[in-house]
Amino acid sequence: MADIRVTVLGSGSAGNSIAVTSGGQTVLLDCGFSARETVRRLDSCGIAASGVAAILVSHEHSDHVRGVRVLAKRLEVPVYASKGTRRAASLDVLVDDVREIGPGDPVSLGGMAITAFSTSHDAADPLGFRFDATDGSSLGVLTDTGELTPEAHAVLTGCSTLGIECNHDVGMVEAGPYPWFLKRRILSARGHLSNGAAADALASLTHDTLRRVVGLHLSRTNNTAALALGALSGALDRLDHAANVGTAAQETACTL
Ligand SMILES: [Zn+2]
Ligand SMILES: [Zn+2]
Repeated sequence: MADIRVTVLGSGSAGNSIAVTSGGQTVLLDCGFSARETVRRLDSCGIAASGVAAILVSHEHSDHVRGVRVLAKRLEVPVYASKGTRRAASLDVLVDDVREIGPGDPVSLGGMAITAFSTSHDAADPLGFRFDATDGSSLGVLTDTGELTPEAHAVLTGCSTLGIECNHDVGMVEAGPYPWFLKRRILSARGHLSNGAAADALASLTHDTLRRVVGLHLSRTNNTAALALGALSGALDRLDHAANVGTAAQETACTL
């Protein structure tokens, strides 16, 4: 019996990493900080780097892979990624043990059952993940996707904890300083979820045993924590659901 402990080491375009711990073993989902900074953040949360069993990689963008190779080599742990991410992130440079994972492949890591699903993002072969612990608690993470696909919805249904990307407020992107091509990319179906899209996704994934929701990957330029929080809690309020809601920060780690 082991409840999942979820620690967001940091989330946003400057770096993403989530430590998922169950039964004393930790799986890192992405490592978008340097290896040294990742270990510093793990330490600050009381998570032993020596307890990291594996690193999962969602896709090759630098805010998700920056420290993966160095940390995997230092800790001598396997790295799991899709075939496309493996190639695009050059994971075989430095890492001795790269293992390919695809949507729907059953993988057991750190005492948890892990299920991957495809995301809709401008990367080679991006994945999102669900973690299931032996006690029935579960975590679903949906970031770096322009939309909640039916495939993602099917995998994420029934999670007790959900991390959902609240990348931007659409009005702030439209009125903001980014060049038009970048605005178009962010707002596309292969970009990032807006606060509104995250709220819609959450509403469609809300169920009786949902306990915690955290907004992830907030843009510093195109969003505020208050707007993201308002969107997520509004979705739950409309369903009269009492799950805890929060947002993750870029600079500081938080344990849910
Ligand atoms: Zn990202
Ligand atoms: Zn990305």
